[in-house]
Order: sequence, then structure tokens, then C-alpha cells
Amino acid sequence: MTDLTSMTIAEARTGLARKSFTALELTDAHLAAMEAARSLNAFVLETPDQARAMAGAVDAKIAKGEGGPLAGIPLGIKDLFATRDVRTTACSKILGNFVPPYESTVTSQLWRDGAVMLGKLNNDEFAMGSSNETSCFGPVVNPWRREGSNTALVPGGSSGGSASAVAALLCMGATATDTGGSIRQPAAFTATVGVKPTYGRCSRWGIVAFASSLDQAGPIARTNRDAAILLRSMAGHDPKDTTSVDRAVPDYEAAIGKSVKGMKIGIPREYRLDGMPAEIEKLWSEGAAWLKAAGAELVDVSLPHTKYALPAYYIVAPAEASSNLARYDGVRYGLRVPGRSIGELYENTRAAGFGDEVRRRVMIGTYVLSAGYYDAYYLRAQKVRTLIKRDFEECFASGVNAILTPATPSAAFGVGEKGGADPIEMYLNDIFTVTVNMAGLPGIAVPAGKDEQGLPLGLQLIGRPFDEETLFSLGEVVEQAAGRFTPPNWWGAKA
Ligand code: GLN
Repeated sequence: MTDLTSMTIAEARTGLARKSFTALELTDAHLAAMEAARSLNAFVLETPDQARAMAGAVDAKIAKGEGGPLAGIPLGIKDLFATRDVRTTACSKILGNFVPPYESTVTSQLWRDGAVMLGKLNNDEFAMGSSNETSCFGPVVNPWRREGSNTALVPGGSSGGSASAVAALLCMGATATDTGGSIRQPAAFTATVGVKPTYGRCSRWGIVAFASSLDQAGPIARTNRDAAILLRSMAGHDPKDTTSVDRAVPDYEAAIGKSVKGMKIGIPREYRLDGMPAEIEKLWSEGAAWLKAAGAELVDVSLPHTKYALPAYYIVAPAEASSNLARYDGVRYGLRVPGRSIGELYENTRAAGFGDEVRRRVMIGTYVLSAGYYDAYYLRAQKVRTLIKRDFEECFASGVNAILTPATPSAAFGVGEKGGADPIEMYLNDIFTVTVNMAGLPGIAVPAGKDEQGLPLGLQLIGRPFDEETLFSLGEVVEQAAGRFTPPNWWGAKA
């Protein structure tokens, strides 16, 4: 029998339909792999009983010919998604042992379609970070290592658990969220495919909020096709989220293998940074050459406000976060540290419950929203945001179908290596990805090659609003040209 954990979702779907194996066997193989990979710290909660029960129920449905589009596919769920009766913490001490009495819309759609939940995945606390080092459960380890080295590398963040688990074959796909790059950057660091859909494509209901005007859920998977399969289930209108858009969800998988002939691909000159590593530059030209060979036309484009995106993001995102996180007061959820007055209870709880990075964001956010500074910072950042969005609109109006950029300015780095003294060093990871959130556009990160040390590097494609299909068609061209990348198994998963 084929190794049950190394298949793609598409292959597993065929195997299950042919009855080559059962959903329960598939789930058990993944539970065993998870158990053997605990040193990666990708899962913060394993739910084996629930997984087996779900898989058994799916097998009964498959036998009756009633399996849904994801029947029997074992998935990991980022701990930012509320899962009914299953602990959900956003990897923050402040949520303690919070067990939601409800299920997020996105995950409920996955279960509706027959997917199986293996457990909850590690992430940066409240999704604030680019390395998964701010999690109260500790860092996640990237299954990729530099050639000839045992140094533990970060998987990126904030969806580090999702990326690491998918790359290490612990789950066939995972949910993730992206506010400034948290799906695409970890995907690039682990040679997985990550999709940040158009703002409004997936419901945010039941997902712990970070910055509500930027947050979007999306999948991390091992191939473009698998990501397309997952997104179809995750997307859709939800009356419980007024920002979710009432538009039919296309069959994204149909876009895989579709010709990209005649498409205009923009290469933005502002993304060519001073001091950009030669390897990233090379990857970018290679990607452009693959798309050209597939019949696309490359055009130079300009997105002049790009340089303001990161500073503006670090005003807008903390502002919204400081407001969203006001609800963690020790009264309604999780942790409560008593005090002599209600004010002291709030202070004690928040001081004990929030980690350093979250506190930094709450302080910055409160400052930029305060009466004397609102116009100078928050309002100004909103104006910059409009200009960034306009850059993209003009580019697309000129006939450009999608934009090609590197996904990250570097490959994965070591645990503890960045951001200790200067948080900006960490923030710079998102230099190519935040613009997409600021403009509400869809973006995909696709594995495209390796650096000199053998670490994966990814390319990003940015699309027109609600045109994820074009991204999948282009992503598939890159995947076919670059091939797929799997890390050698050193962490001791089963043979
Ligand atoms: N790294 C960025 C931040 O820390 C983005 C995080 C995200 O997309 N959730 O804010």
C-alpha cells in the first residue's frame, strides 16, 4: 500500500473512492505521524478520539455513496479558529483553557464536506508574528534544515504550525489566516502552497480577530490543486460576517492546468529591493521565464506607494488589534487574575495573559488611536492604504492579469535569530506580502526553488479581486516547472 501520509489530497480522494484504504486508516496513519513528530511542536492539541470518530462516520457515509468533496481528508486547524467543545487559545495565555460552544464558519464548512480534524495547530500569539516564536506554547520547528546543519529553523508565522505540519506530512492540509503575510510567508519557508484569498471570500466568523479589516482565512497545502480543493470548501458567503461577500464560489480546481497563454503578468519595479539576496533575484527571474514559456506576457509595472505599505500596516494592524483585544478583560474568557477592584482585575489579567509582542501592539494601537495622534497616524495610514489600493487598481486596469513577486526577502532563519533587539527586523519579513492585505487582494505563495543552503524559497502571485482562479492556473505553471519539494525526515516520523 502507498504511504498514506505522503499522498496529496487529490490522490487520497481517488484512493478513498476506489476503497484502496478507509478514512479511518488514513486518519490513523496521520495520528501516528503526529505522535512521532512532537519535537516539531506543530500541534498544540491533538484530538485523536474526535478524529477517529469523524473518520468512522465518514467511512459509513462513503459506503452509502454520500461522501462529500473532502470525505475522509485529515486536516489540521490553526488554533485561531473556534472549534466547538475543543480548546481554542489563539496560543495566548489569556484565553487559558477556553472551550468555545460554537464552531467557526470556515471549519464547519470543512466538516460539512467530510474533512476530519486531527487537532489544533500552533501559531504566533493572536497571529502577531512572522516566526511562530510569540506563541505561549513555544516555537514551532521547521522540518527543513540547512544542508549539513542541525540548527532549528523557524517555519515562519503566524501560521507556523499549519505550514510545518503540512510540510512534515502530519496532515494533508491546514487552515491558516493571513493579516499581513501569515499564510504566504510560512508557506514560502516550508515549500508549501499558501493562499490568502480576496478580503470577504471566506467568513471571519468564529476566527479570533487580530485586525478585522485585514484578516482572511485560507488554506496551506502541498500542491496548488490541493489548495484549490480546500479553498472551495472554506469560501462562501456567511450572513454572520457582514464583510463576507455574496458571490458564487467557483470550482477552483477547474483552474488547475488551464492555459495562461496571453495573460499579462506585471513585474513591479518597487519590489526590487536594495541589497536583495541574489538568490531571490534569480528565483524571481526564473519564475518570470517559466510563465513566459507557458505563453504569458511579462510587463514592467510600477506600484509607487509600496514603500509606505509596511509602516502604514504597523499603524492600521495594531490600531485594530488594540480595539479587538479590549475584550480580554478577565471577565468573559479564559484567564482571570483577581484584584482589589474591577480595574485591578483587568490590569492584572492583561499583564499576566498577554505576551510581549501582543502588549507592544496594544500600546502602539492605543497610542495611534488616541485623541491627539489619531489624525497624524491612524487617519494618515488609512489614506496611504487607499493610495496603495489605487496603485493596484491602475495596474489591473491597464490589462495586467496578475503580478509576480518573491514571497519573502529571505529563506527560513534560525529560532531566536531575529527580532530580539529590534522588532523591525522581524516585521521586514512581510515586505512583499502586506501590500496585498492593505489592498484586500488575493495572493498565493508557491514553492519555486531552493537557496544555496538547500532551504525552500517561494514566489508570490497577486491577483485581481475575486480572481483566485488565475492565481491557481499560474501557480500550477510554477509548480510544474519547479517541481515539488519534501524535506528529508529527521524528526522520527514512522518509516
Ligand atoms: N507578521 C505580520 C504581523 O506580525 C503578519 C501577521 C499575520 O499575517 N497574521 O503582524
